[in-house]
Amino acid sequence: MSDQNGFIVSNSNKPLRLNVGYLYNKAIGTIRDIPVDFDQLTIDDLKLKDLKSTVRISRTREGLLLQLNAEAEVQTECVRCLKEFFLPVKFEFEELYQFPSRYRQETDQVLPEDGYIDLSSLYREYLILALPIKPLCREECRGLCEECGADLNVTSCSHYPAVTSSEYEDNE
Ligand SMILES: [Zn+2]
Ligand SMILES: [Zn+2]
Repeated sequence: MSDQNGFIVSNSNKPLRLNVGYLYNKAIGTIRDIPVDFDQLTIDDLKLKDLKSTVRISRTREGLLLQLNAEAEVQTECVRCLKEFFLPVKFEFEELYQFPSRYRQETDQVLPEDGYIDLSSLYREYLILALPIKPLCREECRGLCEECGADLNVTSCSHYPAVTSSEYEDNE
C-alpha cells in the first residue's frame, strides 16, 4: 500500500510512516486527505484491529498541519475478570510540523529533509489516552472471586453462590 502520492509506505517496522515531502513545495492552503487503514496492526505494545483513520495534511505558512481522525479496536484487559478483549475507541489529534528554518521551540515537531514522518508514537500516545482507566469487557462483568479466582461470569463458587435469575435481570 504505497505510492508516490503520499500514501503509507509499506514497511513492517514502520507501518505508519508517511511520505509528506511532496507537499513541501505546494501552495499554502493545499490539503490532502490520506486514508490509513489496517485490518490488523501492532504499535509497540498495542494490538489493533479494524483501524480506520484519515490524516488530513494542510500546507500552512509554517509547515504542515496534520489532523487525524481515527477509530480502532484495541486489545486491552478487563480489570474485573482479567480477560483480554478488543475495545472500540475513537481518537484524534492535531500536530503542526514546522519547516526547520522556522522552528523556535524545542517542543515543535520539525519536518525532516527526507519528507517522511512516522506517526506511530503519536497514534500510540493518543490511543492510550482514549482507553478508559478501568476497561471492562462488558458493563455487567462479574469478575473473579478474590478468594479462589473463579471466573464468576461462567461459574459460581462457595464464596459467591450463583445469583438468582431475577437478580441477574435486574442488573441488566
Ligand atoms: Zn470482564
Ligand atoms: Zn470463590
